[in-house]
Amino acid sequence: MALPKKHSIRIVTAVAVLSVAAGTIAVAAEHGSGGGAGAVTDRPVPGKRVSDEIAHLSEDPGKTVNLTFDDGPDPTWTPKILALLEQYGAKATFCMIGPNAEKHPDLVKKVVAAGNRLCDHSVSHDTTMDKKPVAYQEKEILDAKKMIEDASGGEPVRYYRAPGGAFTPDSRRIAAENGMRPLGWNVDTKDYERPGVDKIVDTAEKELAKGPTVLMHDGGGSRAQTVEALARLLPWLQQQGYTFSFPQA
Ligand SMILES: [Zn+2]
Repeated sequence: MALPKKHSIRIVTAVAVLSVAAGTIAVAAEHGSGGGAGAVTDRPVPGKRVSDEIAHLSEDPGKTVNLTFDDGPDPTWTPKILALLEQYGAKATFCMIGPNAEKHPDLVKKVVAAGNRLCDHSVSHDTTMDKKPVAYQEKEILDAKKMIEDASGGEPVRYYRAPGGAFTPDSRRIAAENGMRPLGWNVDTKDYERPGVDKIVDTAEKELAKGPTVLMHDGGGSRAQTVEALARLLPWLQQQGYTFSFPQA
C-alpha cells in the first residue's frame, strides 16, 4: 500500500508545481517584462523560517525607501496616511499594536487591501520588554500576531518590531520562528515628540542617506504633524527618484 500512496502524493505535487508555474507565467504576462510592483510571486510561504537578524535594508535594489508607521491602527490618523500613500502610489509597512488591530479590523483590512504590509508591534507596547522573562516576551509577540492576523482576515504578518526597539535574542528568535522578520529602522523622524512639521521633514530628508527604513507613527497620540510631514515628504521622495519598497522579510 505504501507505493501507490507515495505515487499519488508525487502526482499531486507535480500538479501543484505545474499550476504554480502556470500561475507565474500568467502573472508575468500580465505585468510584462518590466513588472515587479504588485507581483504576486513574492507571497511568503506560510510558516517559512525567516532570518532573526534585524532588517534595515529594502527587498528591492536601487534608490528605495521603506516607510514604516508604528503604534496604530488609529481611526483618526491611519486613514489620512493611507489616503496620502495612495495619492502618491506609495506603500508602507504598518507596525500595529495587537489590541488596536482588534479594535479596528476595518482599518487593518484597508491597510492590506492597499498593498501595504503588516508588522507585529506587541500587545502592550512595553518598552522594557528586553528586561522581562522570555515567556512574557513570547506572549506579547504571539498574542499580538494573532490579533493582527485575525483582524486582517488571515493576512501574513511579515515583521516584528519590538516596542522602543527593545529586542532580545529571544524575541528575535521567537519572531523569526513564527515567520516574522525582526524589523529595525535607519531614520528616526522622532515624529512622536511632535517637534514641528519642518523638523520631521528635515530629519527624514537629511538622514535617508543612512539607510532606507524610515520610522514614523500613525498611532499613540495626535499625528497631525506626521500627516503634514508625509504630505511634503512623499512628493519630495518622488522628485528625488526614490521608489517605495519594503524591508527585507
Ligand atoms: Zn511603538
